[in-house]
Amino acid sequence: MNPNNTPLRQYVNIKDYDSRYAADIRDDAYFTFPVGPILEAERALLSGQAGTIAYFSMEYGLATSIYNVYGSARPVSDDNKMTENEVFSNERIPDYLFSLKVDALVDLPIYSGGLGVLAGDTVKTAADMKLPMVAIGILWSKGYFKQRFWFKFGQLPEEMKWDPETFPGLIPLEEKVKLELKNKVIYLRLWKYYVFSRTRDHVVPLVLLDSNVEENDEAGRRLTDKLYRSDDVSGRILQRLILGMGGIRALAALKYPVRIHHLNEGHAAFAFVRKAGDTPGADLEALKSQFAYTCHTPVPAGHDRFSVGECETYLESQDMALVKTFGLEDAKSTVVNLTILAMNTSSSINAVSWKHGEVMKLQFPDYQDRIKAITNGVHFPTWVSAPILKVLDAFAKQMGDYRRDPELLKNVLSLKEDQAFRKGLWQAHQENKKVLASLLSRWRFKEDALTVVWARRIAAYKRPSLLLQDIERLMDIARRIGPLQVLFAGKAHPNDNMAFTYVNEIMNTIDKTQTSGGLLKIMILENYDIYIAKALVSCVDIWLNNPLPPYEASGTSGMKAIANAVPQLSTVDGWVVEAKDSGIGKFFGYEDDGRGYTDGLTLRLNEDARALYAALEEMARLYYDTQKNGEINTQSAWIDMMIHCLAAAGRFNTFRMLNEYRSKVWGMK
Ligand SMILES: *Cc1c(COP(=O)(O)O)cnc(C)c1O
Repeated sequence: MNPNNTPLRQYVNIKDYDSRYAADIRDDAYFTFPVGPILEAERALLSGQAGTIAYFSMEYGLATSIYNVYGSARPVSDDNKMTENEVFSNERIPDYLFSLKVDALVDLPIYSGGLGVLAGDTVKTAADMKLPMVAIGILWSKGYFKQRFWFKFGQLPEEMKWDPETFPGLIPLEEKVKLELKNKVIYLRLWKYYVFSRTRDHVVPLVLLDSNVEENDEAGRRLTDKLYRSDDVSGRILQRLILGMGGIRALAALKYPVRIHHLNEGHAAFAFVRKAGDTPGADLEALKSQFAYTCHTPVPAGHDRFSVGECETYLESQDMALVKTFGLEDAKSTVVNLTILAMNTSSSINAVSWKHGEVMKLQFPDYQDRIKAITNGVHFPTWVSAPILKVLDAFAKQMGDYRRDPELLKNVLSLKEDQAFRKGLWQAHQENKKVLASLLSRWRFKEDALTVVWARRIAAYKRPSLLLQDIERLMDIARRIGPLQVLFAGKAHPNDNMAFTYVNEIMNTIDKTQTSGGLLKIMILENYDIYIAKALVSCVDIWLNNPLPPYEASGTSGMKAIANAVPQLSTVDGWVVEAKDSGIGKFFGYEDDGRGYTDGLTLRLNEDARALYAALEEMARLYYDTQKNGEINTQSAWIDMMIHCLAAAGRFNTFRMLNEYRSKVWGMK
């Protein structure tokens, strides 16, 4: 075998192939995965026959630590492996700070949270559905950040280190992109990561832009180091120019003809400006039919805004003219809003849940006739756990091939009266819970105690500490009904002072609370990431979600939990509005009346906490009614909820979601 002729090199110009990648990329293998599907996908994309969708996203959470894990013949740098995470708990035996050791490859650290996970799940599903897609993102050389606990006093952000050169599956390309801005040139190196389908018969290439190259000056090299961590305006605007404009140039450099540019959030809105500039004489109206835009936030601060002056620092006059035509907040404004720019230059606009669609129409009344709503989903094969798959497989006849088409999960309802299935499902969940119990054994985590978790990005509207408003009331539930274990996890953005205080508050409450002989155990896990998310969504009993309506555009972590038959305890916002009548849990608290949000927001902590405790108490009764002294009560209403969760997972997944994008956005059959 002559490695220099390995067939992939007909299509891909791999940099340093001979010195670094020859052992992993061979005639028959790509980092232990089959090479054939890559060749086929590249051939189809390059031919231009496919009608390619170029998907732009600032972040991607691909779950490489748990799903489609590449192998490598070369040693992987220790920086690419997971480290220890601390756990802070009121279970003080013999001390209350211990580390949780994880032995896994780190997730490709180019995501911060839900938006990235959604993008990653989308790309994986596009591969499963064999869609002609190429994804564009940024190689964040220092990731987002690593959360460290500072004893019991809150969070310290630490720089994340990782090594792209030994990250299995990631390859540098020979092509470089040159982005000429006003008085400034940015060079971008390109990387590629192939995202395989579940059955490994198709791929979507993910192209990552990287400014850390010799040709750039010091500041230029740092532009793509930290995701969402730029403190100055010029850094923020340049990162958006890199994604949007650099992305268009990357597609051209790699010779991928594109039919539709799909902007996952407004960050990439400058793509249209570059495409128009690079297509002399283009009919701008016709060009808009090549762009589609998905908005992910109902929070006004979530939309990127720059002054005309800030844009003029970097954009030549022709580009500026387009930005002013399409991107100003209104005709007299001097503010460029990337959401407006994206909406004015796209032929399709969508929100990410029905509720978010309503809110977005109120926010942008001029666009209301054009705003569609396509509810988010999660990639079922990534998020479902092995014990749940096993019990479903045991009833394959009723289920159909739900792995190929997760919408078939709705068939689980036909098993509702089947006592063997009910018992099997409960036991599968107990098996999952054992995994968490062994991870947290030093904190005496109990398999048979009701376990509630709140885990997601720490932000004020998500109300992280709602459950801790009245510890006496929690203790009262534990005393009367049964022991409670409460887990928290989440990162606060280092510049979000308000979010910081929630980490302090949670730790402070943990510090002050007695376990009362194990009746009420509270713990917070350090450095919430995809790996921890997967463990939590499959291994806990109740998934708690309590944002203040209507600020949650969709939310997806609860969807990961229902894919594992884990019931919801939630306020009614985002995707939950569509799911609350499906018997998947209990719902409580303030509901938005449809008039949209008010800006002088109060978080309604007291009244919603009271409603939360009442709902939790009802759930605790159902839970403790399901298993007593080792006997399983298969009639328990708790098991009904678990079955309804799995059935609802048939809707809240990315297969249903991408089918909607195909027909409503991309014009595919
Ligand atoms: C799914 C996920 C999120 C999103 O959670 P929401 O509940 O939708 O806010 C954030 N972070 C990680 C690591 C996730 O896996």
